[in-house]
Amino acid sequence: MSRIAIFPGSFDPMTIGHLALLKRATPLFDKIIVAIGVNTEKSGFYPIDQRVERIRKAVADMQQVEVETYSCLTTDFCHQKGAGYILRGVRDSVDFAYEQKIADINRLIAPDIETVILLADQQYATISSSMVRELAAFGKDINKYIV
Ligand code: ADP
Repeated sequence: MSRIAIFPGSFDPMTIGHLALLKRATPLFDKIIVAIGVNTEKSGFYPIDQRVERIRKAVADMQQVEVETYSCLTTDFCHQKGAGYILRGVRDSVDFAYEQKIADINRLIAPDIETVILLADQQYATISSSMVRELAAFGKDINKYIV
């Protein structure tokens, strides 16, 4: 049976922290689908098409990784894709508290799906999409932080 994981997030934009986490997770699964959550009421900072295109380029050499968008519940998307795992990352205790809540809710509605949480590599622990957006808004060069 193949182990399929969904790596859900906004990825607005995908950072080198997300990519490092994804790379560390690839030996654990047969396939990982990077799933960009589309919020129909909020367009986000970077257009969805641009996010998809950039992430696809960044993972082009990772055979087991696919990139898709979705606009339903993450657990419903897992079922659609035959995925038994949700991959998430935590950088600190604030992230942990947040991820714990989401994982609890997901387990409640979909007990067949297991959340797998990896600890962030310390060198990327301060990098977040929101930090990147803030720097970009103030005209700073963000290229070294994003994929
Ligand atoms: P969301 O919009 O659902 O919070 P993000 O796109 O910000 O999602 O992030 C997706 C996942 O990646 C989350 O689990 C988040 O905690 C994790 N993550 C974000 N930045 C990093 C990082 N620098 N290192 C490891 N994991 C990270």
